[in-house]
Amino acid sequence: MKQEILCRGCTIKFIPKRGNQLYHDKKCQQDFNNAKGKTTRDEKKAVQKPLDNNFKILKKILGTAKFVNKSREYLDGAGYNFFHFTAKSYTDSKLPAWRVFNYILIELSPIEFQILKQNETK
Ligand SMILES: [Zn+2]
Repeated sequence: MKQEILCRGCTIKFIPKRGNQLYHDKKCQQDFNNAKGKTTRDEKKAVQKPLDNNFKILKKILGTAKFVNKSREYLDGAGYNFFHFTAKSYTDSKLPAWRVFNYILIELSPIEFQILKQNETK
């Protein structure tokens, strides 16, 4: 006789028809996966939104220039969020550089930054 198990989706007890069955029915499985997908999307949004915003700000400030220097105050005023970046590295002269996709924000000093595009560097 087959053993009752707890449905992974709604935790009701059921007897699986197949050995690998985890959900009591198809709809329960779909609902569970949809809820899981929504949680993942919500989690990503908390990071993706400020990152996208930083990208837009850097793109707008740099425009078609090769590089632009701006103060921390200016970037703060533009809504730039220093906590969100895609990677951190150091320049050859050991200055911290934060990447936001293909844009790079180099910390020239605690109050001044240089913005450039990744493909403008070697
Ligand atoms: Zn269920």
